[in-house]
Amino acid sequence: MPTPTPVPTDTERREPAPADRAPTDRAPPDTVPADAVLPDPAPRDDERFDVIVIGGGPAGLTAATYLARFHRRCVVLDAGDSRARWIPESHNCPGFPSGVAGTALLDRMRAQAAQFGARLANATVTSIEPDGDGFLVGSDDAQWRAGKVMLACGTADVLPDVPWIEDAVQCGAVRICAVCDAFEATDGRLGVYGPADSVIGHARFLRSYSRDVSVLPIGALAAADRDAATEAGIACLAPDGTLAFDGRRCRYEVGGEAFEFDTVYPYLGFRTCKDLIRAAGVRCDDAGEIVVDRHQMTSVPGLYAIGDMVSGLNQIAAAVGHAAVAATHAHNTLPPAPR
Ligand SMILES: Cc1cc2nc3c(=O)[nH]c(=O)nc-3n(C[C@H](O)[C@H](O)[C@H](O)COP(=O)(O)OP(=O)(O)OC[C@H]3O[C@@H](n4cnc5c(N)ncnc54)[C@H](O)[C@@H]3O)c2cc1C
Repeated sequence: MPTPTPVPTDTERREPAPADRAPTDRAPPDTVPADAVLPDPAPRDDERFDVIVIGGGPAGLTAATYLARFHRRCVVLDAGDSRARWIPESHNCPGFPSGVAGTALLDRMRAQAAQFGARLANATVTSIEPDGDGFLVGSDDAQWRAGKVMLACGTADVLPDVPWIEDAVQCGAVRICAVCDAFEATDGRLGVYGPADSVIGHARFLRSYSRDVSVLPIGALAAADRDAATEAGIACLAPDGTLAFDGRRCRYEVGGEAFEFDTVYPYLGFRTCKDLIRAAGVRCDDAGEIVVDRHQMTSVPGLYAIGDMVSGLNQIAAAVGHAAVAATHAHNTLPPAPR
């Protein structure tokens, strides 16, 4: 056992030399150190990471921060299309009472992970295979090895196929997630656009924010759904109209009439990275959801899934919670790495 070093007396205490400084001193808070970003493409066949994180949204970046702070070698492979980049301004993200834009939040989270030593690479992962006691993860032009892997690939919203959608989301004429931001739409004229068999449930949720809620159905509503809507104080417009946007608000045009809304919520479903999930061989339930245990581990030992891709509640707070749990379990079950 090494002999303990004596604690310095007050007079011996000194300012730490730059190399001894806490990692947080290395760069301003929103800056990713240049050496954290792997070359693009980044085939580093010689390097074995403790953990590979697939996806650089709030879930993946939080996992990377935890792992780096456990002194684990970790890389985030990210295709660069986080749902969070669509957020004009979030007001329910803990710690930002004045709100935070999704892009700013992602910049800060990337910088936070990188400053503690996580590596970042632009890459779209296409394969995950067993490799000895770990995994071999591949993109079209590179491969990485690691003891454990975290899937943090999120989901992608299916949005109305119109050229103005991004502008409409940025100004709040279209909102995508009522849990996230219906508070900001309180007492407005709200439209809920989506398939007739699912749109009423979403409209009912929005009634606690406004008395002026209409459904804009795709396909004809069933009589029972129409009755349920009427009972809940929800207006039902004729089906299969067209959405238009004037730069500030959306209109629903149907049967020669136009109805204007302060906010339209489209509910058209979402896409998951199911090819990768299938390739990784993880078990899904009958509804197609990835099955995870209380540590966020999938049916494949050492392969975790976190964030929107496993959550019924697609929220930043849920994503970062999964990440903290999974990263801590991964650290505790990797071979110890004493200093
Ligand atoms: C308009 C809008 C507003 C929102 N507002 C809020 C809000 O106010 N509060 C809130 O809590 N939540 C909000 N959300 C939801 C929030 O954005 C998500 O819950 C959060 O981004 C989920 O984080 P994640 O890391 O699981 O997934 P994501 O943020 O989607 O990140 C997944 C990442 O994985 C990458 N990826 C996918 N496949 C691969 C692959 N094969 N290889 C490599 N990388 C891959 C993607 O490109 C992406 O960068 C909002 C969402 C939208 C769309």
